[in-house]
Amino acid sequence: MAAILHLDMDAFFASVEQHDEPSLKGKPVIIGHHHRGVVSAASYEARVYGVRSAMPVSEAKRRCPHGVFLPGNRRRYSEVSRVVMATLGRFSPLVEPASIDEAYVDISGCETLFGPPETMARAMKAAIREATGLPCSVGVAPVKFIAKIASDYDKPDGLTIVSPETALDFLGPLPVSKIPGVGKRAEESLARLGIRVVADIRRHEPEFLARHCGKWGLDLYDKAHARGSAVVCTDREAKSVSAENTFEADTADRDILAAWLLKQAERVGRELRQEGLRGRTVTIKLKFNTFKQITRSRTLAEPTASDSAIFETARALLEAEPLPHPLRLIGVGVSQFGEPPRQLALLEPPGKKQARHDAQIDAALDRIRDKFGKAAIMRGRLFEYERKGERKEEDASGGRGPEAPGPPIGRKV
Ligand SMILES: [Mg+2]
Repeated sequence: MAAILHLDMDAFFASVEQHDEPSLKGKPVIIGHHHRGVVSAASYEARVYGVRSAMPVSEAKRRCPHGVFLPGNRRRYSEVSRVVMATLGRFSPLVEPASIDEAYVDISGCETLFGPPETMARAMKAAIREATGLPCSVGVAPVKFIAKIASDYDKPDGLTIVSPETALDFLGPLPVSKIPGVGKRAEESLARLGIRVVADIRRHEPEFLARHCGKWGLDLYDKAHARGSAVVCTDREAKSVSAENTFEADTADRDILAAWLLKQAERVGRELRQEGLRGRTVTIKLKFNTFKQITRSRTLAEPTASDSAIFETARALLEAEPLPHPLRLIGVGVSQFGEPPRQLALLEPPGKKQARHDAQIDAALDRIRDKFGKAAIMRGRLFEYERKGERKEEDASGGRGPEAPGPPIGRKV
């Protein structure tokens, strides 16, 4: 019988800040300081005031004016995340990171080593707290989606065990919105069918659900009957590295947008090189002031971690795109991580020389920034842009303003 454990750090970014700066303990800490950005984490003290992640920062400031608003520090969070994942790896080799602060662990067959699931879950929570100083919540269930619901069930510092025998009873009274994938819209259409809690789903035949909800209805039917995947994929490392910024003022100025892409390409390239990753696909994300959002991707012949390759591809994608409205946000990401760098051939094909030249520039920039800080050096193109007198603030995901582009590297899985 499969046993899946889902672990989720409690108010992760905010908890890291409170841990690193003890004077913040007990205070409402909110990650997200750009007034046009969104909240990326809120401490439990802030949640009392109704502050939630993904809420606009302006709204959070209205609800909790005395809150401590911080820009965030993605690099630090990634560092703690690695400690969390490594700690989980001590219990089972089958660990699937699901996001920066969440993971699934297959604990089937671990009983002989660590005892029953509850004992093991307690030991794991204690080990995480010892390694990071941070609280987390854990759910154990026969399948992944129930384990995820269970870890959320008794937050913070929660521990919820759902056995194969109790799974149906556990799910029955929960609102349908607790099922992963059921969003606001789905919740509303289910409510129109008289379906509000999971047990309501079970009163219908799969054909009825398929007729009203399509293929997704069948998935819902399975989940309502506690059926789902129990497969933990250990190779699901970070699937992309990205950076994005919300602008102080909406813009359609292609020079300004290109300058942002360059700055973001530098952040993404640096993160890739630090992680020893190279990606084949470059994606740009554009959010218009109408809130319509589009992404455009291009896959390269060779995986890259080069600032200029990322930038040139992103710029080409931007140039090919009409801009019917000013943009509110722009971002760039790299995904499809490939094999590590190969040895250079003795006779380099055309283009290779340029690539090596770019790699040398990247390495030099990395060294200078490691030594003197991120603001120590800037490409000429950015410098000219800065000189235009345009002052931009980084978005809530963690920057520190244009002079010192912080580490707001979004890691999406
Ligand atoms: Mg969390």
